[in-house]
Amino acid sequence: MQALAPMVGHMTVRHVVVWPDDRLRAPSVAIAAVDDSVRELYQDLVDSMYAENGLGIAALQLGDPRRMFIVEPRLAGRDPTDPPVAFINPEVVWTSEEQQDSEEGCLSFPEIYVKVKRPMRARVRATGIDGQIFELEGEGLLARCLLHENDHLTGKLLVDFVGPLKRQMIKKKLLRVKDSESDEIEA
Ligand SMILES: [Zn+2]
Repeated sequence: MQALAPMVGHMTVRHVVVWPDDRLRAPSVAIAAVDDSVRELYQDLVDSMYAENGLGIAALQLGDPRRMFIVEPRLAGRDPTDPPVAFINPEVVWTSEEQQDSEEGCLSFPEIYVKVKRPMRARVRATGIDGQIFELEGEGLLARCLLHENDHLTGKLLVDFVGPLKRQMIKKKLLRVKDSESDEIEA
């Protein structure tokens, strides 16, 4: 997955939590009001998503349990220069019978791709960063992205779509990545 928008302004890039890490399974907490701390979290999500070339990212991936994810503006049907779309306290209100089947990546599973079957279309209701409730219906990759990010808020991850053998393989691979990263820090 590639970032489609340029990075602008002041950056606060936070480390994306990589599986296996219990924080990705933490129960998410509803956001009571869109206040300064929520706007700050939104900005951290934006900066971290663009830094990692993501199409979307959920707050749990920054180790924050609040119920929120964002989606890259062009994918969400907005102008590419628009800010990413925030989904606060999102709810999937409808999905199509028709399915799609393709490979899916996740910032919490670097360089891992898993074939995931999902509905072709999905509609999500959420509160925006302006505090207003809105609905967005997506098809194809946008539906996939909305459902993927929403899964994060329920603690569901890519490895939940694969068998135990493949899950073990992915775990070994990602633990190796983590080991080499901690070596770099020690060095
Ligand atoms: Zn993900």
